[in-house]
Amino acid sequence: MHSFPNVTVLDHPLIQHKLTLIRQKETAVGDFRRIVREISLLMCYEATRGLPLETVQIETPLEPMESRKISGKKLCFVSILRAGNGILDGMLDAVPSARVGHIGLYRDPKTLEPVQYYMKVPEDIRERLSIVVDPMLATGHSAAAAVARLKEAGAAQLRFVCLISAPEGLRVLNRAHPDVEIYTCAIDRQLDDHGYIRPGLGDAGDRLFGTK
Ligand code: URA
Repeated sequence: MHSFPNVTVLDHPLIQHKLTLIRQKETAVGDFRRIVREISLLMCYEATRGLPLETVQIETPLEPMESRKISGKKLCFVSILRAGNGILDGMLDAVPSARVGHIGLYRDPKTLEPVQYYMKVPEDIRERLSIVVDPMLATGHSAAAAVARLKEAGAAQLRFVCLISAPEGLRVLNRAHPDVEIYTCAIDRQLDDHGYIRPGLGDAGDRLFGTK
């Protein structure tokens, strides 16, 4: 158990098994990328569990019937570049018709504040549930900044989905945006002095894209 408000730990056995595989240092880039995609589909399934349904009239080849579909506009997935793109692929496997936004942020070396260098989101984001994705919730500063930018763009309903979070990052995101529900597969021990989550899985972007 944990004491963070609005945080759901996704403890499905398939998710936990796959998380163990990607944490291992021997896991090669191709396997890492594929398994992140598989976990992301499962995370999407869990994070969309409570979506409202509406009843519609349809016709099967045999007779008319009432059936249910998700009500309202399609979801919007928002990837925090660049590692968020690894999660995005699996989320889109689960909901191929979702809209997609991207946000790029870097940390200013002097002020240490996140600076936005790219942002493109659907114009009608106000009317959609936005699910923000980033594999690692470390300091929480870029997640909190991304959510703030999305709120400025009109987003009113937001969830945050990640593979692994640090307690520090959960506190920062919770405090800045108590309305945002967070879904994570694990809450690890701590952040180290270089901003890495321990024990973690290393640099998610490098492991996804083979840049190190
Ligand atoms: N980003 C990563 O990719 N890994 C960490 O451990 C922390 C931030």
